[in-house]
Amino acid sequence: MFCRIVAGTEPARVERRWLQAIAIRPRRPVVDGHLLVIPTAHVPDVGADPEVAAVAMAAAADLAAEHADCNVLTSRGRYATQTVYHLHIHVVPRAAGDGLPLPWTPQQTNADGGQA
Ligand SMILES: [Zn+2]
Repeated sequence: MFCRIVAGTEPARVERRWLQAIAIRPRRPVVDGHLLVIPTAHVPDVGADPEVAAVAMAAAADLAAEHADCNVLTSRGRYATQTVYHLHIHVVPRAAGDGLPLPWTPQQTNADGGQA
């Protein structure tokens, strides 16, 4: 899907463009200003090609510099919660009381296994 967005054959709201990366608004942003940085070269994840990962991270750093508080997040592999296998870096602006737990925050579970 991200290759099609880069190629312009899949609609997306492109918020920023660099030479080798774009930033799009995700379909389901978790907060206002949540963006995804996607390298124009296809690599499956952050560990696949250090040079492509560095280009994408530099673009994410550009966006991060615009926020006093934010998370810059990417995942490699299904057990790290990766669901789309084209490298993407989330830039998530943060604010007091926004209620977003980080993915690595241990989740409380009920006796029936549901989330508390
Ligand atoms: Zn791709």
